[in-house]
Amino acid sequence: MSELGAHIKAVIAEDGPMTVERYMELALGHPDHGYYMNRDPFGASGDFTTAPEISQMFGELIGLWSAEVWNQMGRPDPVQLVEFGPGRGTLTSDALRAARIVPDFRAALEVTLIETSPALAEIQHETLLTAGAPIAWVPTLADVPEGAAIFIGNEFLDALPVRQYQRSHNRWRERVVWVDKGGALAFAPGRQPEPFIQAAGEEGDIIETCPAAHRLMFELAARLVKQGGVALFIDYGHSVTSIGDTLQAVRGHAMVDPLVEPGECDITAHVDFAAMARSARAAGAAVYGPIDQGDFLRAIGIDMRAQALSERTPERAAEFEQARRRLVGKDVGEMGGLFKAMIVANRNHPIPPGFDDGAIR
Ligand code: SAH
Repeated sequence: MSELGAHIKAVIAEDGPMTVERYMELALGHPDHGYYMNRDPFGASGDFTTAPEISQMFGELIGLWSAEVWNQMGRPDPVQLVEFGPGRGTLTSDALRAARIVPDFRAALEVTLIETSPALAEIQHETLLTAGAPIAWVPTLADVPEGAAIFIGNEFLDALPVRQYQRSHNRWRERVVWVDKGGALAFAPGRQPEPFIQAAGEEGDIIETCPAAHRLMFELAARLVKQGGVALFIDYGHSVTSIGDTLQAVRGHAMVDPLVEPGECDITAHVDFAAMARSARAAGAAVYGPIDQGDFLRAIGIDMRAQALSERTPERAAEFEQARRRLVGKDVGEMGGLFKAMIVANRNHPIPPGFDDGAIR
């Protein structure tokens, strides 16, 4: 058992069962032993690979997309480019490089990275050493400097902790983590029913909600309404709120039990885009999408980008084509249909590029 696992058992022995939300929060964010706090989880030698790590095209296209959004905003100077949970900093690095072809945009940019992990912030520092733009690191959205802004969040929302409720003895009960008779961490429905949940359900059903993501949507939408701007979220998730346990853990590119070695595996939950959209709209923002990642990347020019790169470096043509397919394809093992893109924007902002094809909801 991991060090964090032992710590969690001690907390449960002291305080009783902990919510799934608290468990996920500790597993990812415990200051000493949380998964993101002291390692680089990405890439072939790590635990998982994200779109910006698959290909430079992903960040480059988002950089050019941001320049177009900035044009739509009326070319504010300065403009904040903000990334939530930047991982290795690859997306922002590729975006800034591609944005060089729009010098006025580049000159107006102030970059802010929202990151809680000191280890990853250090890697981001290294990645962006030569980026040639002013960059600040902050721990929360509230710390981002005021003003018109473009926000990007790739595989960020899925790292925020979820609460789960399980149907048990005809009541919804919050799902908790406890220590079973064999001394292992185990899930169970909590004792107290939650009378405020009205959803219908059958014995054993699980519903999820992500309060941290809702708080973020409220805060972000309120800011966009007041100060102007657009936010793009890309994540693994579903477009319609539904029943089911989506908590999953990954280690060394394989699925593992989320309770076995907390702190040593990545734990995520699917993003409920419909729920995110409801919160953003309730706070007065416009929402576009979600649309499939593959459709979004195609609409903003990934096919042309792959072709241009292949012409420039023909010896890498197969690699670019393979990456393009992995990002846009909708077959098993490809990301194009599983991942979704959604926009939250100021209501006065025109329809952002890539979302103008009847994608408004
Ligand atoms: N966007 C990157 C990394 C995704 S992993 C990519 O696509 O490769 C999730 C990232 O979010 C990590 O950088 C992690 O440290 C960060 N993170 C997780 N929870 C966070 C929180 N509450 N606030 C800010 N960053 C967070």
